[in-house]
Amino acid sequence: MDLLTEDVVPESARDVKQEAREFAAEHIEPVAAEYYESGDYPWEVLEAGMDAGLVAQDVSEEYGGRGFSLEEVLAIAEEFYRADAGIALTLQLASFGAAILEEYGEEGQKEEFLRPVGENDQISGLAVSEPETGSDLAGMQTRAEKEGDEWVLNGEKYWIGNGVEADWVTLYARTGDDEDNRYGNFSLFVVPTDIDGYEAEHIPEKMGFRASKQAHVELNDARIPEDHLIGTEGTGFYMLADFFNHGRVVVGGHGLGLAAAAIEEAYDFVHGRQAFGRDVSEFQKVQHVLADMRTEFEAARSLNWRAAEKVESDDRAGFWAAQAKVKSTETATMCAERGMQLHGGRSVLTENRISRVYRDVRIPVIYEGANEIQRNLIYGQW
Ligand SMILES: Cc1cc2nc3c(=O)[nH]c(=O)nc-3n(C[C@H](O)[C@H](O)[C@H](O)COP(=O)(O)OP(=O)(O)OC[C@H]3O[C@@H](n4cnc5c(N)ncnc54)[C@H](O)[C@@H]3O)c2cc1C
Repeated sequence: MDLLTEDVVPESARDVKQEAREFAAEHIEPVAAEYYESGDYPWEVLEAGMDAGLVAQDVSEEYGGRGFSLEEVLAIAEEFYRADAGIALTLQLASFGAAILEEYGEEGQKEEFLRPVGENDQISGLAVSEPETGSDLAGMQTRAEKEGDEWVLNGEKYWIGNGVEADWVTLYARTGDDEDNRYGNFSLFVVPTDIDGYEAEHIPEKMGFRASKQAHVELNDARIPEDHLIGTEGTGFYMLADFFNHGRVVVGGHGLGLAAAAIEEAYDFVHGRQAFGRDVSEFQKVQHVLADMRTEFEAARSLNWRAAEKVESDDRAGFWAAQAKVKSTETATMCAERGMQLHGGRSVLTENRISRVYRDVRIPVIYEGANEIQRNLIYGQW
């Protein structure tokens, strides 16, 4: 069964989609269950992904990457997340935040930090969320104070993908306190993770996305040179909002990959399981459940690919990106829930792929802005 068909994918993204599919079959699917159980960081798969040219996908060729368009990154996401969400997130986050540096950074910063990521010599991360604040981007408390020719960072970040493993992170910090201009109080910085005052440790074990690692980061008088500021002081919120429009279309792809996995598993299970002397797939009620899953999936996928086009052409990007994220990630939760029910008691065996998918789908409805916030954005940009 091929649910991730080519028809909605533009011609320009089809070659890379095929590369991603082959890579996932060879390097992700065979080890997905093992990494899920151990919760280890999948270094080997990451290195294979780098060798295959499928990591740091979004960095331009000028800085050593492949310069993938949003559509190409989305095509890869669908294939990778179908194979395993935790490993997929690790591969995707190896260049997380680097696109911001590419868009707004200065030449020297790009040579020093972006190029090593594009060339797969380093990995990056994006540090926005905090222990006490996640959804309210204008409520973050980590502070950057200018002292002479340095910025001094103090505060805490939480949930930071690769916060331990990364060579540097793009860090979002408060640089002002103007109550009349809440969104103008933040800036973005390149923060190398080996500086004094940057301490990171892994957060506790998660129930889903087990092969990805997030960190609790503490910043205690961590000093960076003044030229590590990205773009203009006070514009961090806006740079991030633009970055998230791209990210949310791709997170929609996380949902689509997971939904495809749930549908495949459910369909296979009911074709072969017997009850009341019949194949379970012969019950009309069961067929209707599968029909609903498939219909929701196709609707989400059409919307998501339409949103990719809208974001790429900067046509009401925020409105479309938020819809794609809500619809695709919630389709994944719906398909996983129904898929579990169709598996009967076997649904709860942790070795079964459906139970892995069921736990994973809880996460994309939260990260890159919880779906409640996406609904605020959709209504707000009506
Ligand atoms: C696996 C994983 C990886 C992550 N990776 C990263 C990363 O690499 N970098 C990073 O910076 N962050 C990362 N995050 C953090 C993620 O972005 C936040 O968890 C998310 O933004 C939600 O913030 P929160 O958890 O603090 O929830 P809160 O903001 O505390 O929200 C709690 C609940 O309140 C609801 N709520 C809040 N405000 C409103 C409102 N205005 N209207 C209606 N409901 C509301 C929310 O929807 C949610 O249901 C990651 C999270 C996870 C789980």
